Amino acid sequence: MQEELIMEQKIYLDYAATTPVAESVLAAMLPYFSEKFGNSSSVHRFGQQAEAALEDARETMARGLNCQPKEVIFTSCGSESDNLALRGAAFAARRARNARHVLISPVEHHAVSRTAQQLARQHGFEVEYLPVDEYGMVSSEEVAARLREDTAVVSVIYANNEIGAINPIAEIGQLCREKGIPFHTDAVQAAGYLSVDVESLQVDLLSLGAHKFYGPKGVGALYVRQGTPIVPAQTGGGQEFGLRAGTHNIPYIVGMAEAFRLAVDERPARTGHILPLRDHLIGRILEEIPDSRLTGHPTQRLPNHASFAFHSADGNALLMLLDHTGFACSSGSACKTGNPEPSEVLTAMGLSDDWALGSLRVTLGSSNTAAELQAFVQALPNLVAQVRKLG
Ligand SMILES: *Cc1c(COP(=O)(O)O)cnc(C)c1O
Repeated sequence: MQEELIMEQKIYLDYAATTPVAESVLAAMLPYFSEKFGNSSSVHRFGQQAEAALEDARETMARGLNCQPKEVIFTSCGSESDNLALRGAAFAARRARNARHVLISPVEHHAVSRTAQQLARQHGFEVEYLPVDEYGMVSSEEVAARLREDTAVVSVIYANNEIGAINPIAEIGQLCREKGIPFHTDAVQAAGYLSVDVESLQVDLLSLGAHKFYGPKGVGALYVRQGTPIVPAQTGGGQEFGLRAGTHNIPYIVGMAEAFRLAVDERPARTGHILPLRDHLIGRILEEIPDSRLTGHPTQRLPNHASFAFHSADGNALLMLLDHTGFACSSGSACKTGNPEPSEVLTAMGLSDDWALGSLRVTLGSSNTAAELQAFVQALPNLVAQVRKLG
């Protein structure tokens, strides 16, 4: 009987993987699938209607980013934004000043790190990795020590998806600006909770993805500071100022803008709801589970993000047991599920395999309640003990 009760609950604690589309976002999108279906490149009034929606969305994005509308490039996702930023800036820098040095952190999302690796393997670039501290954070001093004349582009993630750690983007931005080197930050995970004011962050390129802040999957944006040299990744019709060809996905773009507007407006309220729940959760777990540790920084982290390592535990088995018990969590980024290798992020922070293979990520969102987290904290110690016995 009790078993059945437990199995019936389905509690979502994986908001860093994706979020549901907010009601007002869906409502804003719907007309653009049917009655307002025009192609924004068409001359007639159907096209004009789509064009107006597109430019409204671009203005909304620009307000939240504190930039000009023409500096917002709509893409198909956060990954595409990262690809366009890194590859586009690297190719432009090589052409303009024969620069081939790409400086990134070892805790980037694969959309950045795999792109950098391809630049090295197939296009003759040299990729250098910044060191990170025990919290998985980059320091601006380490960036300063590695900037070179021939640095093509620097990329440092704003807030890490796996460990929630927040990097000193404004400090790094200032250094890069002094040297005239383009600086990109992946803010896909950060944008739901942290300011993405590109002036105070001093960035030239910044990636966003709508589905991490209650927008639809399959749409993103790249901020490109006016004058930043960048080569388009996708050529064709001249959409997005020639930087990203393809007929505009108006419903998704409209949805992203509404989700971003909400995220900016509701940022303090969302943080106020989630932060005490998150802090209570972290405290209880570290207290009640022996040989456990928090990964990432205790305070310099996203307010909805908790991540742990349990010594000698099988992290993948733990996820399956949790799912069976009714809790949806993750061990790292969603793309890595099923991969028995320890996470590159945890390894870069200096965690040994006996810790890194027992990782757990719990990310909260608007639907979570204190009662849900109470149930989670009650269930977890026993489940961790079970996956330790297996090992
Ligand atoms: C989710 C995520 C991405 C990829 O965004 P998609 O829109 O899913 O392609 C990139 N970087 C970070 C930090 C992310 O969390």
